[in-house]
Amino acid sequence: NASRLLNKTVLVTGASSGIGAATAVLFAKGGANVILLARRTEALAKVHEQCRTAHQASGLQEGGKFAAIPLDVSDRSQVESLWDKVPSELRDVDILVNNAGFVFGVEHVGDIAPDDYEKMFQTNVFGLVAMTQLLVKEFKKKNSGHIINLGSIAGREPYAGGSIYTATKHAVRAFTGSLLRELVNTPIRVTEIDPGMVETEFSVVRYRGDEGAAKNVYTGLQPLVGEDIAEEIVWAAARPPHVNIAEVLIFPVNQA
Ligand code: NDP
Repeated sequence: NASRLLNKTVLVTGASSGIGAATAVLFAKGGANVILLARRTEALAKVHEQCRTAHQASGLQEGGKFAAIPLDVSDRSQVESLWDKVPSELRDVDILVNNAGFVFGVEHVGDIAPDDYEKMFQTNVFGLVAMTQLLVKEFKKKNSGHIINLGSIAGREPYAGGSIYTATKHAVRAFTGSLLRELVNTPIRVTEIDPGMVETEFSVVRYRGDEGAAKNVYTGLQPLVGEDIAEEIVWAAARPPHVNIAEVLIFPVNQA
């Protein structure tokens, strides 16, 4: 029931493109307030504007408060000082979507640059942990809340050339499962969304800006789009309070 989203405040990391951008816009359309976080200021401003437009078009009176805040989740000090940057009207967060993440390179283990593997762990794992710590404290104080983490099929199945990325997403899955169990007797909900292939800027980053190589990844298959995943996230958030969607595994129909 979409009315459960009205006036909720959602914090989305990695909201400047792909799944995070689509999620922010869909929550905006459903009458929620959204805090958008990512590093790229201009891209974030565009999504901020899309949220405003989507909310206006919805005709809903509720929600419609948005803030775009440049933030690098891999920098713990930036995460810890987040509340200094959030406008007071958006401080009472109800839902955290831990979506920021990336894969960089396709090298086999011996060839991966240490800077690259450290950055993947710092973003996909430590950034997600730091954001979760920040919000779980608030959720415990108010005795409600929902943490939605983006895992991946890569968090269930390793593949050659993906050692670090798959390790980060296995870590996300283990962390999310433990968190769910820690919070099991509270009203705080924990969900993991594990997509297969979604066509976003993800592959462009993976192939270091080589758009041709990025596009080749989807040859012979119709990938999902950000909106497909956003719908699952918003659906999980809109379940009745006694229902916890623990995990969602979602693939293109023709992905093996
Ligand atoms: P995109 O590259 O389109 O989006 C990634 C987002 O993460 C961007 O908004 C980017 O913003 C943000 N981000 C990256 N690093 C940081 C950082 N250090 N601090 C803050 N924000 C950061 O890819 P997707 O939308 O596809 O990816 C979203 C999530 O979905 C990721 O966790 C990814 O692992 C997961 N996923 C994606 C799949 C796919 O096939 N696309 C499949 C399975 C899971 P900015 O650069 O502005 O900081």
